[in-house]
Amino acid sequence: MKDITELTVHELVEKLNNKEITAEQITKAYADRINEKEKDVQAFITITADEALEKAKKIDGEIKDNKNIFAGIPIGIKDNLCTKGVKTTCASKMLENFVAPYDATVVEKINEEKMISLGKLNMDEFAMGSSTENSAMKITHNPWNLNKVPGGSSGGSAAAVAADMVPWALGSDTGGSIREPASFCGVVGLKPTYGLISRYGLVAFASSLDQVGPITKDVTDCAMLLNIIAGHDEKDSTSANIPKVDYTKSLKNGVKNLKIGVPKEFFGEGINPEVKAKLEEAINIYKEMGAEVEECSLDVAKYALATYYIIACAEASSNLGRFDGIRYGYRTKNYTNLKELYRNSRSEGFGAEVKRRIILGTYVLSSGYYDAYYKKAQQVRTFVKREFEKNLSKYDVLLTPVSPTTAFDIGAKSNNPLEMYLADICTVSINIAGVPAISIPCGVDIEGMPIGMQLIGNRFAEETILNAAFAFEQKINFRQNYRPEFKK
Ligand code: GLN
Repeated sequence: MKDITELTVHELVEKLNNKEITAEQITKAYADRINEKEKDVQAFITITADEALEKAKKIDGEIKDNKNIFAGIPIGIKDNLCTKGVKTTCASKMLENFVAPYDATVVEKINEEKMISLGKLNMDEFAMGSSTENSAMKITHNPWNLNKVPGGSSGGSAAAVAADMVPWALGSDTGGSIREPASFCGVVGLKPTYGLISRYGLVAFASSLDQVGPITKDVTDCAMLLNIIAGHDEKDSTSANIPKVDYTKSLKNGVKNLKIGVPKEFFGEGINPEVKAKLEEAINIYKEMGAEVEECSLDVAKYALATYYIIACAEASSNLGRFDGIRYGYRTKNYTNLKELYRNSRSEGFGAEVKRRIILGTYVLSSGYYDAYYKKAQQVRTFVKREFEKNLSKYDVLLTPVSPTTAFDIGAKSNNPLEMYLADICTVSINIAGVPAISIPCGVDIEGMPIGMQLIGNRFAEETILNAAFAFEQKINFRQNYRPEFKK
């Protein structure tokens, strides 16, 4: 029999509800696994396994009603989602000791299900980065090869799921931060349609791009976690008020006659040949399953990064204005007047990448440059959106790589921000357009590192991409064929 921590959540739920295992046994198995693997992986900023065990015992003692099928299922939470009573640091010295007085809406939703948090997961500081090396707390290691990055910014979440230290996790994605780490760690990650999930209590990076989403072991778990966290929230004015959908329902519909577009621009220069080859295999598998696959043109990649970094930095410079040493977080000891208090608190509290973005963002918003940069970027944003609309009126799904390469060595790009930004060349345009996209594993490279495939859908067409992802997953059985080896 498989170890408890190797099971997917849908397998765990079945066993839990058939009374084959208890919540305490599940939580204990995860606590032990964290004990065993965390020294190598370093995925957590805060571990709450002891509290989790207490909660699990309590849940086992309660009479189960059939409504709460997830009662007693553990979860990990990215450390930029506010949790009442447990630190929310955003992996920044600025918020090192910050304890939120309230729960984020998505956290409230998992609490309502009586799920149990195992702790808060490492990330790039304020979600800015693609490797989790920008964390002020620690470097997270990729469970497949400990010398490599797990991706970022939700690197702690993806690594913890891949290492079986949590059965599933919440991440956030502004330009690729769920999909790229999911791809690097061989797990499933979904960036939902903008507005599907409440951002209330997610520490804001770039509000017009940020979305919370699931990182899971398989597509079924992804659909289940999406069911739990999706939905209208009046506390978030950008939250969409649309009817609730059961995302697990249509998973088995198959892909016969599904129209898949393959944008040729996403397979050009800079894409590693092994990544390209695996995706070509994936395309053939879809054809064999009866999907109609066609090459198409989505010529946004060449503008996407420039547009993204202008908009994201502009919004970040405004959002991070609140960290002034007075209302939240870190305050310098070194000041004689108010200006010095602001300046020194921010200089000492923020890391290099965050500062770079605040400066860039302030610059593109400043008078004299606003029209040339920010306004122009907004115009290009409209163009990018239309290009996606055009393609998604013709195709149900667009298929692309997640990242041009597989996980790279720790330290390989940390001194070269531009090269680091390129890791997101295939993901940022999706946030700019506000559409949903899923990252699922489609094979491994010659070093045994996972390769991800991205499936992009129309606004609120999460069902379609989940369905396409599920069909593929059944076919290649990635989880049965490949497991992380914790190579040193
Ligand atoms: N890597 C991108 C960035 O650094 C995306 C980050 C994210 O999605 N939060 O901005």
